[in-house]
Amino acid sequence: MDLVKADLHNHLKTGGWFSRINVNEVIDKARKRLGSGGVLGVVNFSPTRRYEDFASFPGYERQDFGNALYFPNQDIIVVKGEEMETILPSGEQVDLLALGMNKGQHPKPRRTLDDRLKEIKEMGGILGADHPFHKDGIGPFLEIHKGYLGKFDFLEVHNGECALWLPGYAKANEKALEFFNHVRTQNPALCNTLGKLVSSDGHSIYEIGRSNMSLPSISLRNRDSIVSSLRNGMVYAANENLPCKRHNSYDGAVDHIAKWVYLKVARKTKIFPTGCL
Ligand SMILES: [Zn+2]
Repeated sequence: MDLVKADLHNHLKTGGWFSRINVNEVIDKARKRLGSGGVLGVVNFSPTRRYEDFASFPGYERQDFGNALYFPNQDIIVVKGEEMETILPSGEQVDLLALGMNKGQHPKPRRTLDDRLKEIKEMGGILGADHPFHKDGIGPFLEIHKGYLGKFDFLEVHNGECALWLPGYAKANEKALEFFNHVRTQNPALCNTLGKLVSSDGHSIYEIGRSNMSLPSISLRNRDSIVSSLRNGMVYAANENLPCKRHNSYDGAVDHIAKWVYLKVARKTKIFPTGCL
């Protein structure tokens, strides 16, 4: 079985930041870090449309599968993702990560957990718990409501930007991996359905592929074969303990937070440099 490297959770830039995404620069970096057959997830965070922007910008020749782009000359696949605010029964808000929906299809913001699970299934995507024990993670809810784990396709056991300590969120990646191993031992049926994700969650070009995981190569027959390759691949990666690279992206996380704070202040004070937003 051929293995490829994947980094499935990247935003390419902080939402609203001035820079325009350069397609060729992204693909060159993905090819350098992930190699031939590499898979990069480009993830929107509502209301941003980073994947759709990326897909519409000029650059290397590509084949469009609806939910993914294949760049044949560089042998790189870019898959669409959406990170979405989701509301728990307690009213608390968490983030979830979906992969593989079609271009132009956007999950509704702030849906309840049950509606979110249904919505992503109907859109033909897969749903996972990203940074479960960091800010806005669903981990503490899943610790109590373990029955929900059977409804998820994957759990993110390493997120590059979670390396940054925030008050109340120490050792978030260590907790996620420990929880993942624990629930799979406690409930072996999850070994057939719950995959693992190791990602950068980068907001820059330089973070692309810094954290990555191995997967069986992706079947490019059609949009559905891409989704099932990802779903089965993340389960296989966990069961076979395939190699992965866990990078702690302290610089990326600080860079992202600084830009995010700057944009918040700029919006409040209405001081926008030319080209912003
Ligand atoms: Zn993210």
